[in-house]
Order: sequence, then C-alpha cells, then structure tokens
Amino acid sequence: MKAYMAYSEYNSPIEGAILVFADDAKEAKKIAWASNTFVRDICDGEYTDLRIKWLKQFHWFVPLGDREKIAAGISHVIESPLSCPGCNYWGVDIATDGECMDCGEYVGDELCRVYGIVPRSDRAVIAAYDAGAVAYAELGR
Ligand SMILES: [Zn+2]
Repeated sequence: MKAYMAYSEYNSPIEGAILVFADDAKEAKKIAWASNTFVRDICDGEYTDLRIKWLKQFHWFVPLGDREKIAAGISHVIESPLSCPGCNYWGVDIATDGECMDCGEYVGDELCRVYGIVPRSDRAVIAAYDAGAVAYAELGR
C-alpha cells in the first residue's frame, strides 16, 4: 500500500487535494475519481485533468488515513485530511513544539495527537500537575 495525493492539474493542488491509499497510482486514480469527492468538481468533471502524485514518505501520511484499513490493506480515500489551521495544508512537517514548519502556526491539539506530539493544552495541565507535585513534595519535607 502507498499514499497518493489526487488533485487537478489545471487548478493545482493548492485548490484542493485528497489523500488516497492504494496499491498503485492506477488504482489510486480510479478510486479517487469513483469516490465522487470535490476533486471531481475541481477537475470540472474532466477525468484527464486528474493527477496522482506518489507521496513517498508513507509513514508521514499514515496517521491521516484510516489506520485499520491501512493495516488490512484496504484502499481508501480521505477527502479532508486534518490540516494545519495556519496554511491549510495537510502532510506538513510539524516541529516538536507542535508548530508547522511551513507557516510557523500551531497545528492544533488534534493534529498534535495524531502525530504523537504533546498538545499545548496538555502541556499546561502537565506543568500544573508538576508544579503541584513539587509543592506537595515541599510540604512533605
Ligand atoms: Zn501551516
């Protein structure tokens, strides 16, 4: 199984792209079109305008897909993968502090969890807990 991006060549991926998990580009193109997502509209109904790009860093896109289907080898389409709220792109590089490497915005708690980064809101809770634990330890002394 491989990861692909399906988009309109005329409008470019910036106008919208869907994430496809399939065994090869031919199958990816077929199910992207059959999925009847907005990609059809972006391509203005022209199948010849549909482009498929192989996303070589497969592991990076797995969290955005359906893990059970990927594990079972079932091809599928993700119409709206979780994306960075700053630049609206999906599959972006995310720094360890949860900021998008492209635009510098925080990618949000949900996307952080998907990529195994401790979300900012959780960090505040952990810090408060740690502070409490320190206070408690001091009390105990
Ligand atoms: Zn971004």
